Amino acid sequence: MDIHEYQAKEVLARFGVAVPDGALAYSPEQAAYRARELGGERWVVKAQVHAGGRGKAGGVKVCDSDSEIHAASEAMFGMRLVTHQTGPQGKGVYRVYVEGAVPIAREIYLGLVLDRSSQRVMIVASAEGGMEIEEISARKPDSIVRAVVEPAVGLRDFQCRQIAFKLGIEAGMVQQMVRTLQGCYRAFTELDATMVEVNPLVLTEDHRVIALDAKMTLDDNALFRHPQISELRDKSQEDPRESRASDRGLNYVGLDGNIGCIVNGAGLAMATMDTIKLAGGEPANFLDIGGGATPERVAKAFRLVLSDKNVQAILVNIFAGINRCDWVAEGVVQAMRDIEIDLPVIVRLAGTNVEEGQKILAKSGLPIIRAKTLNEAANRAVEAWRNDASHDVTMRAAL
Ligand code: ADP
Ligand code: MG
Repeated sequence: MDIHEYQAKEVLARFGVAVPDGALAYSPEQAAYRARELGGERWVVKAQVHAGGRGKAGGVKVCDSDSEIHAASEAMFGMRLVTHQTGPQGKGVYRVYVEGAVPIAREIYLGLVLDRSSQRVMIVASAEGGMEIEEISARKPDSIVRAVVEPAVGLRDFQCRQIAFKLGIEAGMVQQMVRTLQGCYRAFTELDATMVEVNPLVLTEDHRVIALDAKMTLDDNALFRHPQISELRDKSQEDPRESRASDRGLNYVGLDGNIGCIVNGAGLAMATMDTIKLAGGEPANFLDIGGGATPERVAKAFRLVLSDKNVQAILVNIFAGINRCDWVAEGVVQAMRDIEIDLPVIVRLAGTNVEEGQKILAKSGLPIIRAKTLNEAANRAVEAWRNDASHDVTMRAAL
C-alpha cells in the first residue's frame, strides 16, 4: 500500500525526521487559508497523488501570495496528474498540501529499500538529489552510496556518519543526518515498510537537514499489525478493480485484454495468461483465488472479473491440491445462476475431486464449455471469444 506525501511526512516526523510545516487542503479557499495559518511569505502547493515526478508535471508550485495559492490549487484540483510514474491515465488530485518554502542549499537523494539479494534493508543515497533514482543510476552511478543494515544489531550511528561523510555533508550537520537516517530506518522497520524514499532530502541555507518530499510503501501482508496505518489508504489513487479485489481478499491485477481469468495459484495464473496469448488472445486480468477457495469465494471472483466491462469470455483454470474441484464447480454454478452471465465460460478442472466437479458442471444444465487441458481451455476460450465478439458485431450491424 502506498500513502501520500503528507501522510508519509507525518509518519516520519513521529520518528524524529525534520519536515517543513505544512497543512492539508480540500479546496482552493482552504489552501489559501492554510497558508495564512502557517505564516511566512512563500509557500509551496503540492498535489497529493500516489506518484513521484509531480514537479515536472505541474503538481508542485511555489507561490508568493494568497491569490497565487488559490490559482495554483484551483488548477490542480480535479485534474488528472500525469507523471512518468502514473501511466497515461494519470491520477486524480483531490487533496493538496501547502507547506512553507524552504531555502534549499543542496538536494540529496535518500531511499530505504528491501534488498532481496542481501536479504537486508539497504540504504541508498546520492549527492545528486532531485533526480529520480533511475536517472541517477543511469547518469551518475558513481554518486550512489549504499549501506546494508544487519538486522541483529540494527542501523548503527557510525554507518549513518559514514553515509553523511560520503555525501560530503559538512561536520555541523552530520548529527542531524544521523537522526534523519535513524528515524527513516525505525519507521521502515517498525511499520513494516517495503520502501521509504526522501527525494529530495535537503540541506538548507540555515544549516538544517529537512525531508522535503516523502514516499512510503507498506507491506500489505503486515497491515493487520498497524490499524492506524491501514486507515491512511486512499482508494481514489488505486485501480478500482484492484481495490475491489483487495477488499475481497483476492489477488488481482487488471490488464488490457478481454479474456477474464479465474485461477488458483500465482504460477498457474501466469501460465494461464501465457497460454491465452499463445492461443492468440489477450488476458483481461491476473487473478489468483488462492487455496481452499469456497464456492462463495469463486462467486466473488466471478463478480470481480465481470465488473471489468472489457471482459468478453471467462476462463476458469483450477488445479486443485488444497482446493477442491467440487467446491469450485459449485462456485461456478452458483455465480452463473446468480449473476446471469451471458458470456462464454470455459472451465478446466484438474486434481482433487475432479470427477465430482465435472458432474456438478454437467448436471447444472448451464452452457459451460468444459476443457481437459490448459491448452484446450485457452484455445476454446479464444475461439469462443472470437465467435462471441463477431456475433456482437453482426448484431450491432443488423440494428
Ligand atoms: P516530486 O518528486 O513529485 O516532483 P517533490 O516534493 O520532490 O515532488 O518536489 C519537487 C521539487 O520541488 C523539489 O525537488 C524541490 O526542489 C521543490 N520543493 C518541493 N517542496 C518544497 C518546499 N517546501 N520548499 C522549497 N522547494 C520545494
Ligand atoms: Mg520528490
